[in-house]
Amino acid sequence: MQLPREVIVGKGVLARIPEVMQRLGLKGSALIVTGQKSCEIAGTRVKQLLEANDIAVDIIQVDTATIKDVTAIEERIKQRKPNVLFGVGGGTKIDAAKLSSAAKGTPYISVPTTLSHDGIASPLASVKGLGKPYSVMVQAPLAIIADTEAIAQAPWRSVISGCGDVIAKLTAVKDWQLAQSDKNEYYGEYAASLALMSARLVMRNAEFIEPGNEEGPHILLEALISCGVAMSIAGSSRPCSGSEHMFSHALDQISGSKAMHGEQCGVGTILAAYLQGANWRRIRNTLKQIKAPTNASDMGVKDKDVVKALEVAAKIRPERYTILHKLNLKRDACERAARNTGVIK
Ligand SMILES: [Zn+2]
Repeated sequence: MQLPREVIVGKGVLARIPEVMQRLGLKGSALIVTGQKSCEIAGTRVKQLLEANDIAVDIIQVDTATIKDVTAIEERIKQRKPNVLFGVGGGTKIDAAKLSSAAKGTPYISVPTTLSHDGIASPLASVKGLGKPYSVMVQAPLAIIADTEAIAQAPWRSVISGCGDVIAKLTAVKDWQLAQSDKNEYYGEYAASLALMSARLVMRNAEFIEPGNEEGPHILLEALISCGVAMSIAGSSRPCSGSEHMFSHALDQISGSKAMHGEQCGVGTILAAYLQGANWRRIRNTLKQIKAPTNASDMGVKDKDVVKALEVAAKIRPERYTILHKLNLKRDACERAARNTGVIK
C-alpha cells in the first residue's frame, strides 16, 4: 500500500514546498511537468521556490497526456536524472507526471491547480494510447501540495466536475458491495467507507458549492484527497469507479462528448443509482443544486448516444462486476432507465 507522506492544503501553501522537500530528504534536482497555463499559475513559482533552495530545476510542458508525452518526459528523466518530479496542473499534467515518474522509479509530488477529478491524489493514471479507456495503477504521490489560491484561478466548471466525480462514489461503492455478494470479490470496508464519506461530505455541503464561496472548493479538495487515499488503500480504483464511470468512458468513445469527466460521471451516477434501486432523485437534486449537468442536453450529447453508452458500458471493463453486468440490459431497458430518470427526453 502506497500512501502520500505529506498532504498540505490551504492558502499560499506553495511556499511550504522547500520545507516539505527537506522533510522528505529530497535535494539536488527536480523536474516539473506542467502545462502553459498551470506554469503561469503555479509552475514558475514552484521553480523559483526550489531554486532559492539550491535545487536545480528543469521544466517540461505538455498539453495532453498521451503515450507520446509520457515518453518525452521519460526521455528527460533519463537525461537529467531528477530526484523528484512535480506534476503541476490539472488532470492531464498530473497523470503524465505520475506515469512517467513511476516508469522511471522516481518519486512524484502532486501540485494540483484544478479540482476537476480525483486523479490529483490517486495512485492511478489515465493516458491515451495505453489501449485502456480507464485509469491504471501507477504510483501514489509522495506528497500533495494543494494551494487553494492557485486552485481558485481555475474555471468554476472544474469544481462542478470534481463534485460529480466524488458523488460517483455512492454508486461505485454499491457496485463493489454487489461484487462481493454476487462474486465473492474482495471488499475493503475501510477504503469503501472513506470513499463513501467523501461523497456524503460533498452531498451534505452542496449549498456551499457556488462561485465566490471558498468553503465549497475546500470541502471538495479534502473529499478528492480522501478518494485518492481510498484507492491507495484498496490498491485499485474499485472504491471510486463503478458502473457510472464505465458509462462515462463509453460516452467518451461513442459521442466525442465535450463534457468533463466528472460531469459525465455525475449523470452516470443518476443512471447507476436508478438501476441499483438507490435514491437517484437525491443525487439528481444535488447535481442540479450545484448546477452540474443532469441530462444529455446539459452535456451536449445526443439522447441516442446516452442510451448506447449505457448499453455498452459493461463491455468497457468486463472483469469489473457492477449492476450493469448483473442486469445485462438490452437497448429498450437502457432507454427506459434514461427516460425515467430524465437523462433523456
Ligand atoms: Zn473519476
